[in-house]
Amino acid sequence: MRRKKLTPAQRLDVLHSNGGVCYLCNEPINLARIRRGEAEGFEVEHIHALALGGGDDPSNWRPAHISCHKKKTRRDRRAMAKARRGEAKRNGTAKPRFKKKIASRGFDKGPLMKRPDGEIVDRKTGGVVRPGWKP
Ligand SMILES: [Zn+2]
Repeated sequence: MRRKKLTPAQRLDVLHSNGGVCYLCNEPINLARIRRGEAEGFEVEHIHALALGGGDDPSNWRPAHISCHKKKTRRDRRAMAKARRGEAKRNGTAKPRFKKKIASRGFDKGPLMKRPDGEIVDRKTGGVVRPGWKP
């Protein structure tokens, strides 16, 4: 995604339109102190990240300290990854979490077994424990 490069005058406009404070922490952004190297610089930030559909125009621009901006970018990245996963799930391109369904190991087989005619036999010896209903 290409973003416009702001001119120094545009950067100042963004800063002043927000009352000279960082829009994330509301602490002042002091240009004189930044120039003297005593304060952290500021960046023009997108309220709605471009990658999440935000516009690259003044209504979406706000000034933010570099460290505040970094924190927000990290949060935005998380939201983007989540949006991508949701999209993949909806269009069926998500990679499956399991290759096979988890199957039950089934029931233990007891020592006796019932034949279809009702005869009950010992599973090991094959001996009839109770006869069936054969005619
Ligand atoms: Zn800040």
